[in-house]
Amino acid sequence: MTIFHAIIDRKIPADIVYEDERLIAFRDIAPQAPVHVLFVPKQDFATLNDVPEDAAIVIGRLATAAARYAKAQGFAESGYRIVMNCNGDGGQTVFQIHLHLLGGAPLGHFGTP
Ligand code: AMP
Repeated sequence: MTIFHAIIDRKIPADIVYEDERLIAFRDIAPQAPVHVLFVPKQDFATLNDVPEDAAIVIGRLATAAARYAKAQGFAESGYRIVMNCNGDGGQTVFQIHLHLLGGAPLGHFGTP
């Protein structure tokens, strides 16, 4: 059970921007870009390492939902970034897999301060 499961279960509030039977998307509480939305599957996987090959579609759905959201918000063509952090060195802090969508402004080249 993570904080994201509590959001899925409506035990704690979140600014939910999209939901279907398989995933939920809500605004990050500490945004790192003008648009920072987290896409979280309802199926439980602690980290990307725990997703078996036969569940790869779960990741695909997060990515395509993020792209659809960027299109709907009008910044798909100007561009955006998607990120998944894995474990300690990757900076993962919530152990239910999630994809970050960052956009709404030029983000620069990855790794450029
Ligand atoms: P990660 O570090 O990749 O595990 O990302 C976890 C993200 O969840 C961070 O960007 C946090 O700011 C965000 N976060 C933590 N708690 C909440 C919450 N209650 N509502 C929305 N975002 C949250």
